[in-house]
Amino acid sequence: MRTPIVAANWKMNKTQAEAREYCRRFRELVPRDFPVELVIFPPFTALAAVREELSGTAIRWGAQNAHPEPKGAFTGEVSLPMLLEHGISYVIVGHSERRHIFGESDEFIARKTKAVLGAGLSPILCVGERLEEREAGEARKVVEEQLSAALARLTPEEASRVVIAYEPVWAIGTGVPARPEDAQEMAAFIRGWLRERFGDVAEGIRIQYGGSVKPANAGDFLRLPDIDGALVGGASLDPDSFFAIAKEAVP
Ligand code: PEP
Repeated sequence: MRTPIVAANWKMNKTQAEAREYCRRFRELVPRDFPVELVIFPPFTALAAVREELSGTAIRWGAQNAHPEPKGAFTGEVSLPMLLEHGISYVIVGHSERRHIFGESDEFIARKTKAVLGAGLSPILCVGERLEEREAGEARKVVEEQLSAALARLTPEEASRVVIAYEPVWAIGTGVPARPEDAQEMAAFIRGWLRERFGDVAEGIRIQYGGSVKPANAGDFLRLPDIDGALVGGASLDPDSFFAIAKEAVP
């Protein structure tokens, strides 16, 4: 059975003080034996504060980005050895904002994925089509290309540590989620692709849905057979709202 995983992508939000306040409330809400893996992705500058507040709980934290090189002349970037010092477990890779605002290529995302795995961490690899691609009937083709670029050269052991977030670009931050049946269809397609490449390992790989998930619609996605969690942006900024979503993932 796949343990559900629900993640909070705070994006460029929250100072250290705000992060501490959030974590104090959140850890009060989450029971020790909560059966859903919970991961918070603060901005880099709040990682130390989040670590201090969440150490000793079952809640994990991760980085929203990382450079594939361990060090060097990459002004403004942060490396995996630097992030490992902050006790992270996960790194988000290939988020649509990185792909489309910052122009990250499939090739760069593949290097990051490999580097994250090489550091002993798990990537949450985001894939998803733009609206015009869905309307042109190309959603599967786009997602397949993204999967293939990032994952095709991994070993089955490496693949088993990857989490995939299916995030249609047009659903992110718009208040307009995908239809649950479309999300399930794409998640099943992703799992089929994983099965072809990695065999039985595919049954254990977790696939999240992301895109305008809120407490009121989370259950529609989290009950679907091939969806094992959610990657949540806007609605994760409030701890009560994020926990309300996480509760919908309880098996
Ligand atoms: C995201 O940032 O990955 C996301 C899904 O954002 P939102 O929940 O705000 O659509």
